[in-house]
Amino acid sequence: MRAALASVYLAAALLSALYAVLSWRRRAAPLAKSLALITAGGTLWSLAQAVAVWVTSPDVALAATYAMFPGVAMVVSGFFWHTTVFTGRQVSPLRRRRALLLAHPVLLVAAVLTDPWHHAFFDAVSHTPDGGVIAHPGPLYWLHTAYCYTLIAIGAARAVGAMRRAVRGHRQVFVIFLIGAFVPTAGNLFTLFADTGERQVDLTPVLFLVTAMMWWWAERYSVSARRMPVAYGQVIAALSDAVMVLDADGRILDANPAAVEMLAAIPSVADGAPVGRLWQELIGPQLAAAIAGAGQQMVTAVNGAVYDVRVVRMSGEDGSVVVVRDVTELERLRAELTDQAVRDALTGVYNRRHLTAVLRRADRLLSAVMIDVDHFKAVNDTYGHAVGDEVLIRLAHELSDAVGAAGTVARYGGEEFAVVLPGVGAEAAADLAEQWRQRCVRIEVATAHGPLRVTFSAGVAQLDPGANTDDLLRRADRALYAAKEQGRNRVVTDAPILR
Ligand code: GH3
Ligand code: MG
Ligand code: MG
Repeated sequence: MRAALASVYLAAALLSALYAVLSWRRRAAPLAKSLALITAGGTLWSLAQAVAVWVTSPDVALAATYAMFPGVAMVVSGFFWHTTVFTGRQVSPLRRRRALLLAHPVLLVAAVLTDPWHHAFFDAVSHTPDGGVIAHPGPLYWLHTAYCYTLIAIGAARAVGAMRRAVRGHRQVFVIFLIGAFVPTAGNLFTLFADTGERQVDLTPVLFLVTAMMWWWAERYSVSARRMPVAYGQVIAALSDAVMVLDADGRILDANPAAVEMLAAIPSVADGAPVGRLWQELIGPQLAAAIAGAGQQMVTAVNGAVYDVRVVRMSGEDGSVVVVRDVTELERLRAELTDQAVRDALTGVYNRRHLTAVLRRADRLLSAVMIDVDHFKAVNDTYGHAVGDEVLIRLAHELSDAVGAAGTVARYGGEEFAVVLPGVGAEAAADLAEQWRQRCVRIEVATAHGPLRVTFSAGVAQLDPGANTDDLLRRADRALYAAKEQGRNRVVTDAPILR
């Protein structure tokens, strides 16, 4: 029985030592050094246990029993260090704190070494028939135990706190961590209070192997708790979007650099940091009320800047996260692109696609005027394409001016324009077209050969309410053809069809 137990301790000591060496070799990792300290302590503790249960000399057994305690101190301070790093607390650079942690092992060793004289650590030692010893705890022993359990309790409380703060999916890592810490603690508590009357059998150092395995897993297969908030913080700080955290009253609890910069543009904020101020005071009560509800909104500031504002209620907390993106440039581009999509690139009047869309929406009497420049090919041939383009541009502007709000001017093809006049009958449309024709013939385009004038022909057709828009332009085109036939530079109305 004693030999079997000693072998278990020896095996545990070997595994612990191996684990300590492997941990030390990767000591650059944040959690490796503390694991190395714990497992080195476990090695010493297991070795001393192996000797204490195996030898038949009471003196050696007692010496081995004492020798366990430096190992215990290493394990406990390692545990405390490990939880500090694992739960994301900064390892304090303060020498004082480290000195405080070192005080226990030093005092413990001193107490153990001097125990044969003062017997305050073990107040009595009884012998077992097989040559072993049972040490009976004295006041210093209990002081040491209380100190160890205090450190363990603080570490466990930190782990529970970190678990509650952790994001979903990361919690299980803390559960693993806590179970790992609980296994040897339970074993140790059992040893402390179960009086077997035999040589002290303490499985704690063996159980530490379970802990080490579980913690290794937790470290290996999880993002370190310390890095998660750091990573989140850096992502938020790097965002060009302004991110603010508000409490239930609208007080700014946190603001990333982009938010600070954005808010600094507001005169009332410019004199101080936005954190701690009320959101509604900074942006004005109306605007605050408008974006009070959760959701997304576009807000235009007095200076014309456009902001995309998203308010997200924090789940489980009274407060919200506000994300503001400056979309002024984006909105300007969008408006420009939308406009470009319906305009003709050369002349700036509407394009054929837009005209078709306008006609498709038509729901009342309207007229269409088809306009084609006369002998335009000759213009190009004589003066060149550039002059031809200039003629088209000047004509388009003159037409737009003349039509004004009365209708829609579109470039229908190369040198063809179409005008849609809602609410205007064919006769009135023909009168208008005649006015435009007279205006346009007065346009003079400067060329190398002197001023150039052009004329156009126009065909007019009327669309009755409810009639099909499809052949309206075809009829206007037919009238235009007639105008060309009749000698150009004139307006012809499509013969009324039979109704
Ligand atoms: P008409 O209409 O009076 O019968 O004679 P036209 O010479 O105007 O006849 P046509 O419609 O055949 O000629 C149109 C010409 O317009 C042909 C083409 O080279 C020219 N054209 C078309 N688009 C453009 C353009 O964007 N710029 C220039 N400069 N010319 C264009
Ligand atoms: Mg033509
Ligand atoms: Mg023409």
